[in-house]
Amino acid sequence: MYEDTEKVVIAGLKTPDVDESFYEESMAELARLVESAGGEVVARFDQSRRKRVAATFLGTGKLEQIKQILDEKKVNTVVFDDDLKPNQARNIEKALGRDVKIIDRSGLILDIFATRARTNAAKIQVELAQLEYRLPRLSGMWEHLSRQFGGSIGARGPGETQLEIDRRVVRNRITKLKQRLEKIETQRRTQRKGRASAFRVALVGYTNAGKTTLLNRLTHAKAFAADKLFATLDPRTRIYRTPDGRKLLFTDTIGFIRKLPHHLVESFRSTLAEATEANLLLIVADAGHAALQDHLDVVDGELQRLGLSDAPNILVINKIDVIDELQLMELEGAFPEALFVSAKTGKGFNMLFERIFESMPKRPPAWGSMPVE
Ligand code: GDP
Ligand code: MG
Repeated sequence: MYEDTEKVVIAGLKTPDVDESFYEESMAELARLVESAGGEVVARFDQSRRKRVAATFLGTGKLEQIKQILDEKKVNTVVFDDDLKPNQARNIEKALGRDVKIIDRSGLILDIFATRARTNAAKIQVELAQLEYRLPRLSGMWEHLSRQFGGSIGARGPGETQLEIDRRVVRNRITKLKQRLEKIETQRRTQRKGRASAFRVALVGYTNAGKTTLLNRLTHAKAFAADKLFATLDPRTRIYRTPDGRKLLFTDTIGFIRKLPHHLVESFRSTLAEATEANLLLIVADAGHAALQDHLDVVDGELQRLGLSDAPNILVINKIDVIDELQLMELEGAFPEALFVSAKTGKGFNMLFERIFESMPKRPPAWGSMPVE
């Protein structure tokens, strides 16, 4: 999205139905998303209201304050923590009175995904999600143009017609992308069938919980792990051989985050299929994160949406190297069924492997115990 660090103002609306700490976490996370997109947060605005203002999302007084900061700090981008309706984004633009870019959380997440997509499949999935997201917002773009250039050469009359043409172009492209995705999906399905004899373990969890690091450490692979949100978009599968020669496949998937745009989840279905068809899920969580429970709730919700609530799983609480003894004891009390590991130091790995092996179907009588002639 940005070439240099782009200065950004973030804004959120706190309604009474939202818990204070949840709101704080969500805003902190939004700031991290901005950083992950290469931006720098220079100011944050919060408004407490009973409900959102239908036309402008925030109240006019708050927008006036934002406008002042934008002018003062020479900022052109405002990111909202909640999804804006297309008309709200336009009205906010008008209220801020100059050429500002209004982005909402979904738009920002899609943008990060776009910069992270490496493989063909990931690129198609991201583009598809972006187009679905933009389709209802196209009319705003044309209104914007006619407002700026209304009545001048090239901006007379054809607005609506042009809008129809644009919509058609976008819809055609969506159809094409879906067809391509279907082909990729068929290929992946065949691949997965080929691996059906192996025991498949998928790592799922909140973004930045340490899934990729854990996969690397468990299988000694070298995949890209970074302290950024959504560093990984492509499913990566690594083979691990158990000491007694059985094959285990570990797959790393995209992470979840609160308010994940539903278009993204939809278009990433084929990637997430790696998780839906696994024999065992490792639900990875970050021990050092204050919002651990919120994160687990979000992951639960997404797994439910994918029909995976009852899938065999192990809760793996990672990064125990960043907490002290007392915190560890508290977590052990709160999550008695969980395993506690550190992907950084390898602590807890023996137990983890033991639990994974326990979940595998029993192998036929060991060769070693067969009578020797
Ligand atoms: P993912 O988004 O779940 O795949 O998370 P990553 O594997 O990319 O890790 C996110 C960040 O957490 C990276 O900076 C990792 O180095 C860090 N990390 C992962 N596991 C651990 C751990 O056990 N301890 C510590 N201290 N940091 C970790
Ligand atoms: Mg990752």
